[in-house]
Amino acid sequence: MTAFGGNIRNYIGGQLVDPLSGKYFDCENPATGAVYAQVPDSDARDLELAVTAAHDAAAGWRDMGAQARAAIMHKLADLMEQRIDDFAMAECVDNGKPLSLARGMDIPRSINNLRFFADLGTQFRGQEFTSEKSFSYTLRQPYGVVATISPWNLPLLLFTWKLAPALASGNCVIAKPSEVTPMTAYLMSALATEAGCPAGVLNVLHGRGAQIGAAITSHPRIPAISFTGGTVTGRGIYQAASAQLKKVSLELGGKNPTVIFDDANHDLSLQGAKMAGFTNQGQICLCGSRILVQQDIYKKFRDEFVAQVKEISIGDPLAPDTLMGAMVSKQHMEKVLGYIDLAQQEGGKILVGGNRRIVQGRCANGYFIEPTVIEGLPAQCRTNQEEIFGPVVTLMPFRDEDEAVEIANSTQYGLAASIWTENSDRAKRVAARIDSGIVWINCWNMRDLRTPFGGMKNSGVGREGGMHALEFFTEEKTICRPAA
Ligand code: NDP
Repeated sequence: MTAFGGNIRNYIGGQLVDPLSGKYFDCENPATGAVYAQVPDSDARDLELAVTAAHDAAAGWRDMGAQARAAIMHKLADLMEQRIDDFAMAECVDNGKPLSLARGMDIPRSINNLRFFADLGTQFRGQEFTSEKSFSYTLRQPYGVVATISPWNLPLLLFTWKLAPALASGNCVIAKPSEVTPMTAYLMSALATEAGCPAGVLNVLHGRGAQIGAAITSHPRIPAISFTGGTVTGRGIYQAASAQLKKVSLELGGKNPTVIFDDANHDLSLQGAKMAGFTNQGQICLCGSRILVQQDIYKKFRDEFVAQVKEISIGDPLAPDTLMGAMVSKQHMEKVLGYIDLAQQEGGKILVGGNRRIVQGRCANGYFIEPTVIEGLPAQCRTNQEEIFGPVVTLMPFRDEDEAVEIANSTQYGLAASIWTENSDRAKRVAARIDSGIVWINCWNMRDLRTPFGGMKNSGVGREGGMHALEFFTEEKTICRPAA
């Protein structure tokens, strides 16, 4: 498997198949603007086949046991590892991200997701309770068939982040990757049968969120859905799922603060703010798009930050020295450029960037935006309140801890924050007061997969990661008998 492109296919009941409608739509390489593949426009009929296949396979997969499931998941990880360069190239072409990032982060972490949850599944167990009168224990039992819906920013990483715990805990899965970035999920599905995955255990349906995504959400034989994506979409899924009392996990948007105190390590905080602002073109839910800097060091930090951002190399994702590639699509590029216009209308001053970048050569028609730094905006304006999800950060000065916390907490979101200070007492105090699911101290995007992951406020409902994910995909049943 070295070539990709052409027709992507669904994976249903252990077979790669065309959508029943025979309809496809275009998939673009955002770095060149060229159509390079066709995506199945799946609908409710394809879903019906997948749900039937998954239910047929459910008892066998559940009863196989965690060790045997882990062996298959490790085999799939092995097969992906053998083709790691193909997967990285596919992710780069499909998404526009630098090849070095896909090769260094997305694909290795995706493979690791499979391995991590395969092993964790073998450690997953219920609880025991003894009293004078009774002995009780719990069973953690899979739902049978569950669904995962994932976004385009970290296509395979987030696809596997959901899929792996679902499979490891004994469920069969209907998985829907984003229509914008379907390629690596397709390549992975094409290896599942070779890895020994029984037919129907994994089903991958491609297509439009509004059509196949909505059909999945409302299907009566899918009792649990794990979703990562935008807050508006998540809210709609929550509403649709509530009609059938489905269990739902929602990982949604963010507007994350990077808080830099005057006693921060200067070089580390500059580097951290830059990484948090611009990694993956600012298209990570955890990106720090609001940089709050204590007023005594504001000017010095700003000037050096701007100087460093000017040095970020942007261009062909295949070039080894590229740090920022293309935005994921023309539509998304236009949305982000619209926010840069809005920032100026709101009185913001652009210190660097602010424009679409035309890259010479094969990427001349690609969707690139310069890394952009804006200052002079109040915390409450739309630019500082809404998720832009691009390479756009704002700088805001603050007086003291109280004001830093107030600004940090002033949005509808509560996903992530990073705090930069050499004072560990202050770090702990501020971390405790910031309303977000994760707070990093003097680092950003450092992840231990065993820790809970998720957002507060409009950034989500529930927690993923480690045992939390396995718990989500199972029902806990209590069994009680009189004490012996
Ligand atoms: P969307 O919400 O647009 O889409 C996410 C997924 O939902 C896609 O697979 C999409 O399919 C699908 N979808 C769209 N409409 C429906 C529907 N009506 N019913 C069911 N499924 C639907 O998000 P994006 O793909 O644009 O991703 C970016 C967003 O994801 C950002 O807000 C970002 O913050 C958030 N995110 C959150 C993370 C977290 O862990 N909290 C991590 C990463 C991203 P299709 O693409 O085919 O339309």
